[in-house]
Amino acid sequence: MALTGIEIFKLLPKTNCKECGVPTCLAFAMALATGKAELSACPYVSDEAKEKLQEASAPPIRAVTIGAGDTTVKVGGETVMFRHEKRFENPPGIAILIKDNMEDSEVDARLEKFKQLQYERVGLNLRPELIAVKDESGDATKFESVVNKVKQGSDGGIILMSDNTDILAAGVKACADRKPLIYAATKDNLDSVAGLAKENSCPVAVKGSNLDEAAELTAKLGEAGINDIVIDSGARTVRQAFEDQVIIRGAALVNKFKPLGYPTITLPFEMTDNPMKEAVIASMFVAKYGGIIVLSDFQGESLFPLLVERMNVYTDPQRPLATTQGIYEIGAPGENSPVLITTNFSLTYFLVSGEIESSKIPSWLLVMDTEGLSVMTAWAAGKFVADAIGPFVKKSGIEEKVKHRKLIIPGYAAAESGGLEEELPGWEVLVGPREGSQITAYLKSWSP
Ligand code: SF4
Repeated sequence: MALTGIEIFKLLPKTNCKECGVPTCLAFAMALATGKAELSACPYVSDEAKEKLQEASAPPIRAVTIGAGDTTVKVGGETVMFRHEKRFENPPGIAILIKDNMEDSEVDARLEKFKQLQYERVGLNLRPELIAVKDESGDATKFESVVNKVKQGSDGGIILMSDNTDILAAGVKACADRKPLIYAATKDNLDSVAGLAKENSCPVAVKGSNLDEAAELTAKLGEAGINDIVIDSGARTVRQAFEDQVIIRGAALVNKFKPLGYPTITLPFEMTDNPMKEAVIASMFVAKYGGIIVLSDFQGESLFPLLVERMNVYTDPQRPLATTQGIYEIGAPGENSPVLITTNFSLTYFLVSGEIESSKIPSWLLVMDTEGLSVMTAWAAGKFVADAIGPFVKKSGIEEKVKHRKLIIPGYAAAESGGLEEELPGWEVLVGPREGSQITAYLKSWSP
């Protein structure tokens, strides 16, 4: 049973030193009880109290790690129903399916897609993380050999899918060091799969015929000392699967129902044969509340939107996505190329750099750290004003890259042009367009 705020308070030092970021130990206790604070934020909790508080401070949905070393994927660990309450913690792992009865060439092609379909966006590498190997052959040797191929041919986390413990054991044998997710323990094989998971310290998924059965299975695994669990509620209609996701999240967070306090695995490929419908179903699970999403195959046109959706849903709403401050070369700019400046709000950066790129005029783009604020907001907040921009331009090193001294500032910061010329003696400050869409036309008339 989770501790109440008052019970937690009794275990805290009660000095109200504020080092945890809240004014009193009581406020910290309340935040811990509702999963809105981490116990590690208080440096003064005794070891004895720490042990007692572990339960209260653990996220109501356990964080489960699949994989080892550099290729780990962490799912779960969620503390809120809605992103705006705090943030979502661990994005769902996206998996490609490989069946053990596929031709070698098809397995190779899928491994290649897994490697190739990665995208750079907002300074992040968006990519899928997991490969699900499914037993269709019923042949343990065949399964083991495909798992081996997957292990050798990719850095992804591995999900082993079979109802047969011997076949799962063959898969584990091939990749135990990669700590695969064993899928699935059912009511018929629970003891043997639990033994396999425990012996190899691997996470394990339960598959129920419905939510009640899934909860019974996780409770039994818990009794057996296995805690790294992922839940498949067994639903294969879109509506039921969606409802189950919401019920699982609510039961764990609101009702503190431990048997459902685990991340989920969802299988859109078992819900439709239509690839586009499958992508739409996957998109639903990105938003609500899939822990792992297994797709029948990857196509760039459906995977990329899913990865972008996932990035957007799982960014911290209190922290805007920001680009690193610096000089960005667009095209192959030279000493006579235009110099533009903007803020480091990622969306602004992408709009501006995209427009410069489509103008086909190689340019230097100075991106200034404004704590992720857009031009207008940063200007209004006093972070994108002459006495901040001037020192940044001087230190940026742009003066060594261009012969001319012309700086194009965004139209929304036009009021800074006079002050900026004072800050940057020898520079001419040009007021560029307000909207990114007008940059191409503006740059066409550029002359150094
Ligand atoms: S850091 Fe610890 S002792 Fe200090 S106020 Fe927070 S909970 Fe209390």
